[in-house]
Amino acid sequence: MRPVNGVFGNLGTTIFTVMSALAAEHGALNLGQGFPDDEGPDDVRAVAARAIVDGPNQYPPMPGMPALRQAVAAVNKRFYGLDVDWQKEVLVTSGATEALNDCLLGLLNPGDEAIILEPAYDSYKPIIEAAGAKVVSVALEPPLWSLPLEKLAAAFSPRTKLILLNTPMNPTGKVFTRAELDAIAALLIEHDAYAVCDEVYEHLVFSGHRHVPLMTLPGMRERCVRIGSAGKTFSLTGWKIGYVTGPEHLMTPIMKVHQFVTFTTPPALQTAVAYGLGKGDDYFAGLAGSLEAKRDLMARGLKEAGFDVLPADGTYFISADFRPLGFNGTDEEFCRDITVKAKVAAIPISAFYADPAAAPRYLARFCFCKQDAVIAEASARLGAYAQRRA
Ligand code: PMP
Ligand code: GLN
Repeated sequence: MRPVNGVFGNLGTTIFTVMSALAAEHGALNLGQGFPDDEGPDDVRAVAARAIVDGPNQYPPMPGMPALRQAVAAVNKRFYGLDVDWQKEVLVTSGATEALNDCLLGLLNPGDEAIILEPAYDSYKPIIEAAGAKVVSVALEPPLWSLPLEKLAAAFSPRTKLILLNTPMNPTGKVFTRAELDAIAALLIEHDAYAVCDEVYEHLVFSGHRHVPLMTLPGMRERCVRIGSAGKTFSLTGWKIGYVTGPEHLMTPIMKVHQFVTFTTPPALQTAVAYGLGKGDDYFAGLAGSLEAKRDLMARGLKEAGFDVLPADGTYFISADFRPLGFNGTDEEFCRDITVKAKVAAIPISAFYADPAAAPRYLARFCFCKQDAVIAEASARLGAYAQRRA
């Protein structure tokens, strides 16, 4: 038989699906895959329900419903001072996952290079490779996940088309600093390159930190596309509504990809997200504040169980070093062991590396966007597991 596609034919199942299945099999609390364990805001869901009944339910315009594109342009202005033309510079997609695909396929040519920073979200590499481009990875340095600027500079070549920047960052919870963003911007200008900015966690940032879109830095407005996700901003991960903002010259090819990948996205959900983006500042601050309290609860629970806990300044995730528990296997083995024996599932950090052998093998990612009682129970189970090992 002829070989199927060389990128996708050889891929395994994503770690999120693997660990969720293992959690279900063992009746474990699932702190693996990142999703909240509530239903999301009542008012946003009520608008969606009404919109399904009232319509329209036929194909909306290809780039997205005007109300949502206008709302995306408005939040760009409101939160970041960006002036955005909603007709030419905003695209609505079926989740940030589709947005990433559209941006990478729309910007990359075979033979180009794309820089990713590891640990990196798992969909980046296959999409870059499907475009015929080469992934060049630069590893951040734990425990602070600092960006090694010299290594980053050395990763650029005349073939570098773009960098994929995820801030706030999954799985590390890192929020890139202004100095790091300045350094990246300088490299993009020097090498005439673009940035695809995965900013799905833009509103999930904790005290003492601020999300700064790379696009707001001098010289970056024409070089960056930024991606948001209603899934994260409204705790509705199953809805799969994403949005891309960028200059017209980059959005034109990106919209052409969208045209032939999904063409459009369910109209009732777009209407509800347009409503949601218009919510007051108290909603956005409340979301971050509630997650910060959960971050603190999870950090305390992990520390009390005996882990060394890494900082997490944003996102749904916190990482912990399990070596103090006396576990000498890999991170994958550890995550399986706690799923089976402690009945708590987590994600091994090495799953976010192109070459797991080059990854730290002693860190597990725990998702804390869960009910406080679930976090407390998971912490107690991990504490008891650690005691049994001691
Ligand atoms: N990028 C990152 C870094 C993510 O964590 C996620 C979450 N799944 C996505 C993109 C995809 O977002 P969506 O669910 O909107 O497709
Ligand atoms: N972004 C989610 C996470 O990192 C998972 C999304 C997915 O399952 N593809 O856990």
